[in-house]
Amino acid sequence: MVDEHIAARGVKHPAVLKAMREIPRHVFVPEQYRSDAYADQPLPIGSGQTISQPYIVALMSEMLRPAPDATVLEVGTGSGYQAAILCKLFKKVYSIELLPELSARAQAAIAEVGLKNIEIRVGDGYKGWPEHAPYDRIMLTAAPAEVPQALIDQLAPGGMLLGPVGDDPNYQRLMIMEKSADGKVTESASYPVRFVPMVKGR
Ligand code: SAH
Repeated sequence: MVDEHIAARGVKHPAVLKAMREIPRHVFVPEQYRSDAYADQPLPIGSGQTISQPYIVALMSEMLRPAPDATVLEVGTGSGYQAAILCKLFKKVYSIELLPELSARAQAAIAEVGLKNIEIRVGDGYKGWPEHAPYDRIMLTAAPAEVPQALIDQLAPGGMLLGPVGDDPNYQRLMIMEKSADGKVTESASYPVRFVPMVKGR
């Protein structure tokens, strides 16, 4: 999977390629789809949600600028696979998921893989996770129409937020938002991507 779909398509960061080789994706995939776990495609994980395509996981991990001393907030735990990769690239990962059944399964998969530098909880990503803020990095894996202000507020100076943004369910832009040391926020758009929408919590 890594040679054919990830390195071949231009992901170069050695730590990202190593993490993608080390974390067993099948553990994060429901049993009936396990034979496809190492193909480069998203797969259903229940509740109408999907585990992202491995190439996109690798690409976004590389774009997030791995740093072993940095903390990350991920919005949209889903299967827990992206969070597991982030555990290998950052000091500490916090991940929020709206749906309790997915969060519980992600927790079990993460325990099975033996990762310790992560906390996950059920919650609404529009509010972030203020208790552990600020974060050096924030990654969205569900698409809001606009980046929620609470998340911008929870980004550390010098930090970076990366995620799909847009209100079309079939197409969004991968946005990069950077906060300078003096708190100024700049935005740039890169690749077109397709993620599930970030749902407003109740
Ligand atoms: N990162 C995941 C893929 C996530 S799919 C993986 O590696 O498998 C997007 C996830 O975002 C879904 O599980 C969905 O339930 C969740 N989600 C949608 N809206 C949300 C919100 N407001 N807050 C937190 N999670 C949300």
